[in-house]
Amino acid sequence: MSNAKFILNTGRSLSQGMYMESEGKWSESYFKIVATIEMNPSDIKKLGVRDRVKIFSNGNGIVALVKPSDRVAEGTIFIPMGPIANLLVDGDTDGVGIPTFKTTEVEVRVSEEQVTTLRDVLKLLGAKNLEVFAKDLPLKSGERKFFESVSCPFCGDLCDYLKIEVDGNRIVRNVGGCAVSIAKFLNYHKHRILEPYMRMNGSLTSVDFDRALEEAAKILASSKYPLIYGLSSTCVEAVEVAIELAEIVRGVVDNTSTVCHGPTVLAVQEVGGVYMTFAPVLHLADVIVFWGTNAREAHGNHITRLITAIGRFRKGRRDRKVVVIDTRKTMTADMSDIFVQVEPGRDLELITALRMALKDLDIESPTVAGVPREKIYELAEIFRTARYGVIFFGMGVTQTGAKLRNIQAVIRLVQELNEWTKFVLLPMRGHYNVTGANQASLWLTGYPYAVDFSRGFPRMVPGVTTAVDLLTNGDVDAALIIASDPVAHFPRKAVEHLSKIPVIVVDAKWSLTAAFADVIIPAGLVGIECEGTAYRMDGVPIYMKKVVEPPPGVLCDVKILTNLVEKVRALKGLRS
Ligand code: SF4
Repeated sequence: MSNAKFILNTGRSLSQGMYMESEGKWSESYFKIVATIEMNPSDIKKLGVRDRVKIFSNGNGIVALVKPSDRVAEGTIFIPMGPIANLLVDGDTDGVGIPTFKTTEVEVRVSEEQVTTLRDVLKLLGAKNLEVFAKDLPLKSGERKFFESVSCPFCGDLCDYLKIEVDGNRIVRNVGGCAVSIAKFLNYHKHRILEPYMRMNGSLTSVDFDRALEEAAKILASSKYPLIYGLSSTCVEAVEVAIELAEIVRGVVDNTSTVCHGPTVLAVQEVGGVYMTFAPVLHLADVIVFWGTNAREAHGNHITRLITAIGRFRKGRRDRKVVVIDTRKTMTADMSDIFVQVEPGRDLELITALRMALKDLDIESPTVAGVPREKIYELAEIFRTARYGVIFFGMGVTQTGAKLRNIQAVIRLVQELNEWTKFVLLPMRGHYNVTGANQASLWLTGYPYAVDFSRGFPRMVPGVTTAVDLLTNGDVDAALIIASDPVAHFPRKAVEHLSKIPVIVVDAKWSLTAAFADVIIPAGLVGIECEGTAYRMDGVPIYMKKVVEPPPGVLCDVKILTNLVEKVRALKGLRS
């Protein structure tokens, strides 16, 4: 056998996060990580793979190296999230706004062809320019400063207890941060955008700030239906201004929850939520479930601050039972007491069976979603007899199978568990302020994301006004991308549309989306060079300090967007 069908699973990995922050997305080391396929050793043997395979899906074919891993089940492959994985994912969102990132069927063939490079991928996607003008900010030793209670601007845990030591403009120490956090702070100066650029005669040319801003304003003011996207890695103050901008230009403003926990937000609107803050988990929880989330790699400190730490009534790890439910035997599964391997895309069946077991109903089938019936009864009993239980769930549940119906069912399960004991749940939010982006959008427009102003009032239609759908269907005629990298995270069809429309990028580092930009405006890093407010994954607002000054001439997102609003107002003849 030299070819076979597999289920493709994508997700964050520790090394993907670390290389993204330390070496940048244009580096060979980052690309090598996101272009290596994990495959079960017995599948490697069956297929006769030497070191690489060619994977086909949706008319696309890429060649990538293979790494044996018994963490992935037979018949499945894992590729860390990034441009290679997303090339294979279909742009269809089933009317929900989120592609099926974790259960795409692909064909895998043994290959001897050259491995696909980042430049091959970007050319295939229609990149406008492959020149990279990323620079390292010159560092200079000087006054030594120590900052306490600094918040980490990486993931939704928003750890606000870091101690940061600065020497001049050099960040020399990060105490309390996880490996990714340390990589982010200590390499904040690397691969930066230090001056504005405009595409002129097909090439990016350095221009001054006013010229870049003027051009960006012209693009937005003349657009009939622009998309403003990103906003989960900036502060809520910037999100507020971006929403004002969307209203002025009668466009759509969407944040990254559209491709992560959008289904969670929709499900909560339909059936409610049973949430808590971190504190009761630390002090009370004795049963902790990680469902479809690899917290140990994607949220490095989550385990140490909530599971192994000593709380008021829980004496650390030995006082807590940890259950992991996932399709892959992740690093989080390694530290669990019970690991339940569910078949890809079949979480809804398992949740339904658990709800039946809770109600003492008979489960007729000997296995459900690959899980033996006895295991389901055992799990139901563990949940029912917990003193305080919590389910942390991730994109293994939101991006697969029934999507928001999975989440509705999980919420129902938790609601029913509260007839027996105290049980809560919390989505593991990825970007550090994706929760804040949802909150600001809600309080200003009444909708959490994908807010369309084309009719002069806010409305949201999942599957229509969501960013992936707008791009895949070619509906928008310009895009402003703020602190985000859709080229690294959206399916091929959506990215291809960015090659056909004017694109403005506002970012601190040189992203893959910069290859599609017509205007690039450098920004300060929120939480390092700019202060602001962000919301932790449990909804607690946290103040983000700055520990160094932004590079000379570089402004923070709030200031850039405020200037842009003024320019667009002027061009449209609107009063300030
Ligand atoms: S867990 Fe997340 S927020 Fe906390 S230090 Fe690590 S990357 Fe930063």
